[in-house]
Amino acid sequence: MEPNEPTFRTRWDVALALYGTLIASLTLVPAYGVLHGFTPELWGWFVLFLAWNGLSITAGYHRLWAHKSYAAHPFIRVLFALGGALSLQNSIQHWCSNHRQHHRYVDDVDLDPYSAKRGLFYSHMGWMLKDYPAARTDYSNVKDLQRDPVVRWQHRYYWWLTTATNLGLTAALGALHGDIWGGLLLIGILRLVLCHHTTFFINSLAHAWGKQPYSDDNSARDNGAIALLTYGEGYHNFHHTFQWDYRNGIRWYQFDPTKWLIRLLSFMGLTWALKRTAPEKIERRIVEMQRKQTEERIRLSRASNRDQWLDLIDAEYAKMVGVLNAWAQCRQQWLELKKADLKAKWEKTEIHSRLQHLEAELDFQRRQWRLLTQQFA
Ligand SMILES: [Zn+2]
Ligand SMILES: [Zn+2]
Repeated sequence: MEPNEPTFRTRWDVALALYGTLIASLTLVPAYGVLHGFTPELWGWFVLFLAWNGLSITAGYHRLWAHKSYAAHPFIRVLFALGGALSLQNSIQHWCSNHRQHHRYVDDVDLDPYSAKRGLFYSHMGWMLKDYPAARTDYSNVKDLQRDPVVRWQHRYYWWLTTATNLGLTAALGALHGDIWGGLLLIGILRLVLCHHTTFFINSLAHAWGKQPYSDDNSARDNGAIALLTYGEGYHNFHHTFQWDYRNGIRWYQFDPTKWLIRLLSFMGLTWALKRTAPEKIERRIVEMQRKQTEERIRLSRASNRDQWLDLIDAEYAKMVGVLNAWAQCRQQWLELKKADLKAKWEKTEIHSRLQHLEAELDFQRRQWRLLTQQFA
């Protein structure tokens, strides 16, 4: 602690909940497993609750409410609100207020509720253990969410819902399979602890470990390993750069089950208005970052012809962005023409062949750019 840092009240209730469940999951759960065993049915419920819990936070609290990256049917919102109460991470309203604050003041030691600049433990769970001012909120940044009756209902009955789902529902499922304690320990405690810490990784590890392909304005990182543990939220550098996008992992090979769920639900008419960043915007950010990183490396190198290299990078960058912009503009024209029926057939052929030409040019430029920047990688 800094010598002048004020001391804050310890949140014993939070500490007891976080450490109590953690210790129980490391002692009582394995002991019960060895001495008594858990039935396959309980393991099945455990997996289902783990997914319900985790996806309610990632698809619900995070991408639906905090960022409004899509809209969802009331049935889905209630399901996420219940899964969120089950996760014991505070109400939607409170969580989203803290999260919007995190994006707005990211890395600020005084204003970001879980600032990564205060260390790994603080950003993981330390921020909840004391009454730090950064995490206090008057909900003025979630007024839009307060108009959602599901959000208001969940906030009002939060403790009832949390108790009913964590204790009532898990004990009832245990009783259904003739093992109340098994239900409480496995579906209740172990599921809760796993869900807590995997979510917390997004604030701790995803701000410390990984790559920054889109921006180095803040500490957020892209990390495929963290994505595996967090239902796809490990592509956090992308997320902090394009926070309104319903996707975090934008490539087909990136593990983002939260995105897959939202998309699947959209086919069923249960989610809609999915927001996506235009591909040229994403590519421009990547190229900008590559230019920045390459130029830094050239400046640090002892090469005598550094200035020539820097000029070359500048020239190739300008060409790359020029072609990218021309392609994006032509693509937009083409999409609009396609929508506008069969009229202007001649214009259609004209634009289409221009688009094909620009695509080939862009491909060529991309290769040139890659060859040039890889020399300094
Ligand atoms: Zn976010
Ligand atoms: Zn973050």
